[in-house]
Formats: sequence, C-alpha cells, structure tokens
Amino acid sequence: MSRQMERAREILAAYDGPKIRVMEVCGTHTHEIFRLGIRSILPRAFEVISGPGCPVCVTPASYIEEAVWLANQDVVIATFGDLVRVPGGGGSLADARAKGGKIQVVYAPEDALQYAIDHPEEEVVFLSVGFETTTPASCLALKKAAEENVKNFSLLTANKTMPGAYQAMAHSADVFLYPGHVHAITGTGLCESLAKEKGVSGVIAGFRADELLTAFVVIAKNYPLGEPFFVNAYPRVVTTEGSPAAVRLIEEWMEPCDSEWRGIGVIKDSGLRLKKDKDRFDARIRFGIPQMEGKTPGGCRCGEVLQGSVKPTGCPLFGKVCSPDHPVGACMVSGEGACSAYYQYGGYINDER
Ligand code: SF4
Repeated sequence: MSRQMERAREILAAYDGPKIRVMEVCGTHTHEIFRLGIRSILPRAFEVISGPGCPVCVTPASYIEEAVWLANQDVVIATFGDLVRVPGGGGSLADARAKGGKIQVVYAPEDALQYAIDHPEEEVVFLSVGFETTTPASCLALKKAAEENVKNFSLLTANKTMPGAYQAMAHSADVFLYPGHVHAITGTGLCESLAKEKGVSGVIAGFRADELLTAFVVIAKNYPLGEPFFVNAYPRVVTTEGSPAAVRLIEEWMEPCDSEWRGIGVIKDSGLRLKKDKDRFDARIRFGIPQMEGKTPGGCRCGEVLQGSVKPTGCPLFGKVCSPDHPVGACMVSGEGACSAYYQYGGYINDER
C-alpha cells in the first residue's frame, strides 16, 4: 500500500466527527467501493447509500414496454446487454426474443449503426439510455447515419442528465460522491453552483482505490466544518470546462425534456430527446409507439433503493426470489445496480455502512 493510501486510512480511522450520509450517484462507484473493500475501512459514522447512478436501473418500466412493443413489430432492437433482462409490464426483451423478436446485443451505438448499414432491409432501433457519458456516442452514431444517408436507423431515447437528479435527491444525502466520468463531460460548474447557491455538498471522485480514498478523506475533513463544500478530487480527468466538443455534439442533436426516473418520478428537464428537425431518427415518431403503462414487478423496491431510502437488503425479495441469476427488478439485473453489488460483494453481511 502506498504511503498516500496509508495516510488516508489513518485519517479515516481517526475520524470522530458527526455522522455523514454519503450518496454515490454512479453505479461504477457502488461496485468499486464494494470490490475494493473500501466500506470496511470507512469510519462507522459514514453511511454510504446508493443513489440513481445506474443508467439501466433508472430507466422506467414504460421504456422497456416501448422497446418490447417495437420488438413485436418486426423491428430489430439493438441494445446493451443489461437492458435485455429488465422486466417491464409485458415482460422483458429476453421474453420478446423467446417469442421471435429480433434483439441484437451491441457494445456501442456505432455497432448498432453498422448493423443497420449491413442490413438495409431491416429497421434497426438503438436503445439509447444513459447519462452525459454515453449520450455523445449516440449522437455521433446519428451524425454518421445522417452523413451516410442511412434510412433504417433510429433511436428510442431515454437519455438523462444529472443536474436535475442531484437537486431532486439533495434531501437524501449530506454529501454526494459525484460521478467522475459524467463530469469529465460537463465540467465542474454545476457542482460548484450547487454548493454555493443550494448548499449541496459533494466531491467528484475517480474510480481507483487511491482516488476513492482521497474523496472520502476530503469528506472527512470538510463535512465537520459545517459549510457546504465542493472539491474536484479527480483532477487528472475532470477539468473545470469538461469536454466542450462532447457538449456541443449533444446540443446539436438533442434538447432537454422532462424525464421519468424509476422510483423517483418525473424530474423537470432531466432528460434529452431528439430535436424536432431530427424526427426521422426518433423511433417514437417513426413507429407511432403508443403510451405505455409502466408496470413495475410486484414487491420490487428498486424505486426506494434508487432514492437511498431503502438498502437492497431491506427488500424482502433480496437474495430469496431476486438474485443476479433470477432478477426481479432492474437494480439486480444491471452490473451497475445497487442490489447486484450488495449481492455480489456481500453487502448483506456488512450492511451497516
Ligand atoms: S432485491 Fe430485487 S426485487 Fe428487491 S429492490 Fe432489488 S431488484 Fe427489486
């Protein structure tokens, strides 16, 4: 262990300040904090809760129902693998595939576009979900589709942006552990203004053990002072201005809209939809998708898990009928989901922090 990490451990071990509820807003943080064993060296006064940071988890059931509806219309659904097993009211995309629906698992929007180019006789819809990190790749695929006049490619959008979520969740946490990769795109301005204008404290954190420990040390040193604070503890990647090119690309193709987050509800201007002049790439318009009901599986408490008000172990289905092999809700399906992390890393044993 490096001297820096040893020092971080010492500082955390010596913490004798007030209790702190720290909310991760990033599924990768949730998993890395477990995987690296960081929970076990945090002070008992630190309560780490998972927020709405997993893109698959926050995508509402109605979106899955739209995708299943499309799969039943002889449209090829190109999607990241996690979404295939998330249940909607009418079953999952895996169920649709079992009934003959065409589901193509891809690793990037560009793969979906390439599939469309290679199969001009098929209509291909890419399921565009995720935060500021992944949205530029969807926009890039659209840009290429427009340049190459690809006529059989469109997006079903459920892209989300973080500012609204931070504000909606501000009451749930004392300090946010902000997602480093989101702010590599957006920069730090939002976090700074949340601290200054709304009194919301937070630290941008990286993903390595030393970076996460540094972020928790920053929290341990600043929170007891009693003033809202913001620190960028991931400066090797996150800059003040972020990535203006990625932001411009998003703004060229998409515009803000109100968006539904699983368990949280509709948050104003927290989503992105295609601009009006890009209608031909909008699967909802192209195929006239009807309004969906958005039924969540009975007994699943993903909504509360995503708000940090219930830990995965507080769900009566956890580990009994719901597991990564047989997931009932989105938070157990996704590799970034809190329920999956608790199950995988034994959070049900060491659950008090
Ligand atoms: S354990 Fe399963 S059923 Fe319970 S909240 Fe998590 S995903 Fe939903």
